[in-house]
Amino acid sequence: MSTISEPGSGSVEPERKWTIEQVLSIRHWTPTLLSFCTTRNPDFHFKPGHYARLGLGDGHGDDMVWRAYSMVSAADDDTLEFVAVLIPGGAFSEKLAQLKVGDAIQVDKLSFGFLTVDQLAPGKDLWLLSSGTGLGPFVSILRDPPVWQAFEKLIVVHSVRRAAELTYRDEMAALSHALSGAKAQLCYIPIVTREPGSSEFSARIPQLISDGRLERAAGTSLSLAESRVMVCGNPEMARELRQLLSSRGFATTRRGVLGQMAFEKYW
Ligand code: NAP
Repeated sequence: MSTISEPGSGSVEPERKWTIEQVLSIRHWTPTLLSFCTTRNPDFHFKPGHYARLGLGDGHGDDMVWRAYSMVSAADDDTLEFVAVLIPGGAFSEKLAQLKVGDAIQVDKLSFGFLTVDQLAPGKDLWLLSSGTGLGPFVSILRDPPVWQAFEKLIVVHSVRRAAELTYRDEMAALSHALSGAKAQLCYIPIVTREPGSSEFSARIPQLISDGRLERAAGTSLSLAESRVMVCGNPEMARELRQLLSSRGFATTRRGVLGQMAFEKYW
């Protein structure tokens, strides 16, 4: 990975839509799953759940590859954090696989997205249903203290193929302790689908909702009146969950009318 001149200062070139940041740390969860932290331009703002485009390359036109990633970091952190899966043969993945501490990375000045708590009508319980790296934006949401006062229960469901892919598992436990005085309780439900015996559940999320096991594990029901649901991850899972929740009366926000569910495909 070549280094662009003067990275790390969040330096803004006036005519550009992005800033040049510097990679501060990289964590490899598995050979194909990593998270990394970068410097942050003080003028870059986002809401927890938003995404921004990241650019890797030598900074000179043709070589640049851009992909959208949700911020994992809290909205007020001094640094930015992202989580990514390496896709064999993927143009961005090939560059990401070479990434080293100190390298430059470009971050769009604008952030986007509708997977934010303010896209939902007020409710009692917040269900955060994720698969794979789709947990990322939910970590940012959980790192935001106001969400701990807005709900009574925060139910985080993370479905992965193998236990090693249960990213941020320790942080879920730590957050729960750190915010013990908050209104909300955290209920973390990991699901490992392809390593029998390594977690309580090995069935997919839609199945666990249909047969009532997820609600029993969460100790609360998934109801239109009290539950708000965010879904992020595998597009097919998102499609199935949209159908399932719609059949129970849940709706997304439309034309200014706040709904009870919100979606992001995280692929
Ligand atoms: P994944 O295949 O989506 O698996 C993550 C979890 O989601 C697993 O527990 C899986 O269960 C579950 N799942 C899959 N389809 C589902 C559905 N229709 N309904 C409910 N749950 C479902 O993702 P991954 O393990 O993170 O990555 C797998 C492959 O996808 C990798 O090779 C990766 O390169 C690729 N990928 C591509 C992109 C992209 O941007 N193109 C992004 C992420 C991943 P099962 O074990 O039962 O399938």
